Amino acid sequence: MSGGLTNLGNTCGINSLLQCICYVNKLRDYIISNECEDNTNIKYQLKDIYNKIWNDKASVNPVGCINIIYKIFPSLNRFEQHDISELWMLLSDKLAEEYGTPMSLPSNFVNVESKVYDTLYKNNNKKTSEWIESIQGVQISTIVCPNNNCNNCSWNPEIFTSLVLDIPNQDNSIFLSDLMKNYFKKEELNGWNCDKCKYNGNAYKENTLYSLPDILTVTLKRFAFVGDRYIKLRTSVVIEDEITITILNNKKNYRLKSIGIHHGSIMGGHYTAICYNSNNHCWYHIDDSSSVKVSVNDVLRLLQNNKDVYILFYESE
Ligand SMILES: [Zn+2]
Repeated sequence: MSGGLTNLGNTCGINSLLQCICYVNKLRDYIISNECEDNTNIKYQLKDIYNKIWNDKASVNPVGCINIIYKIFPSLNRFEQHDISELWMLLSDKLAEEYGTPMSLPSNFVNVESKVYDTLYKNNNKKTSEWIESIQGVQISTIVCPNNNCNNCSWNPEIFTSLVLDIPNQDNSIFLSDLMKNYFKKEELNGWNCDKCKYNGNAYKENTLYSLPDILTVTLKRFAFVGDRYIKLRTSVVIEDEITITILNNKKNYRLKSIGIHHGSIMGGHYTAICYNSNNHCWYHIDDSSSVKVSVNDVLRLLQNNKDVYILFYESE
């Protein structure tokens, strides 16, 4: 039995995210194993909390960590509900900065490799770390000029710390794997300009995966505009607890470790987490300070039919 985290006034989003991260073995082990003396760092606060809830199994008051989070991210208002997916982006970037050590630029890379390297170098403020390598993937967006005499191919690497998948507003359920396929579907651009032949008109942009992180985070984009209304999409998504992704001949198998759930409506709502403890092979439903064991069947039922699952943490095996 692992501990929960006290709610300090609308902190259920932060609490649920901290729990989701804690149950991804590689991330938790990395955070716990890193020495840090400075208690104004998030990595110090997380290490402190994870030592308590993972090793001592006690419920924890995360006041120190929450105060540092509000201090570092002034855009987050106290006592307001936070979007757990946006929190993940903020927190993972901040940790990338804190853990980062200077990245050297090798001179012998060519073409794709060097452009990807350059993008990573700039995106991470010239820093690298095991944290960054564990959570960041690279996709390449490609546009081929439709002018047959030209066929100019412009491409750019893009870094992601979460695959943010669009959800259709529909009554019947949809598979997560189909949402992923849609994500990598060609997207039509209007008024595209070719810088080589000066073609102006429609073209297709396509995203392909270049490298996969060990920790794959997937956000189901449930908060979206439908017409002029910003709503929560409650389309049921069928989620696979194991997924395999292949890039060229490189196959990666992932297992679901943590699920962040947004209950209720867009106006109010509450976050909880369902996480897999790989030490005892049990799932837990963690609702702030309460952590309750749930059966595998309950989790499988949830994955088969759910309208509230918002963020998923997969870890490669
Ligand atoms: Zn062209």
